[in-house]
Amino acid sequence: MSRISVISGDITSLDVDVIVNAANAQLQGGGGVDGAIHHAAGPELLEQCSAIYRQNGACPTGQAVITGPGDIPVKAIIHAVGPVWQGGDHDEAGLLADAYHNSLQLAASHGYQRIAFPAISTGIYGYPKPAAAQIAMSTVCDFLRNHSLPHQVVFCCYDQETHDLYQHLLMNYD
Ligand code: ADP
Repeated sequence: MSRISVISGDITSLDVDVIVNAANAQLQGGGGVDGAIHHAAGPELLEQCSAIYRQNGACPTGQAVITGPGDIPVKAIIHAVGPVWQGGDHDEAGLLADAYHNSLQLAASHGYQRIAFPAISTGIYGYPKPAAAQIAMSTVCDFLRNHSLPHQVVFCCYDQETHDLYQHLLMNYD
């Protein structure tokens, strides 16, 4: 599908409207892509996240919230909470699909054209990469079939295995 692209690299340096963060429920920053985003965005992002947490409490798994970009040159950051892998029988698949779907919905409702996703839950949260890539791709494809926004979705892969998985899936969806 030509509205989807797969790239290798750091999500904080992409030319898109909105990047998605694989956040934790407390929105407090952590390791992995979350740490990289907070590091690049600076203290203003943590202040915005803390304000949302004070107002709404923890962000439930599968849900997403939106903030400004801090120092990252995009228009916004969507913080999506993916599931921790617990063996597969805790609705991890449904919750991971929700994280992608709700992020896309949020981006569309703000009128954003281009969004970039990391491979949510496949780092510290331990979700098996092949299964997670399949859910990411099918959820995004389903959403794009029914919505004109976002116009472009970028899967930003940080390791070769993830890149190869997405590339292979994308060829099969074309
Ligand atoms: P989670 O806690 O949801 O598992 P992680 O940040 O640990 O989140 O990992 C999610 C994915 O993000 C992993 O594939 C990891 O390699 C990748 N990642 C880490 N840093 C970056 C970055 N700067 N840009 C894009 N992806 C990244």
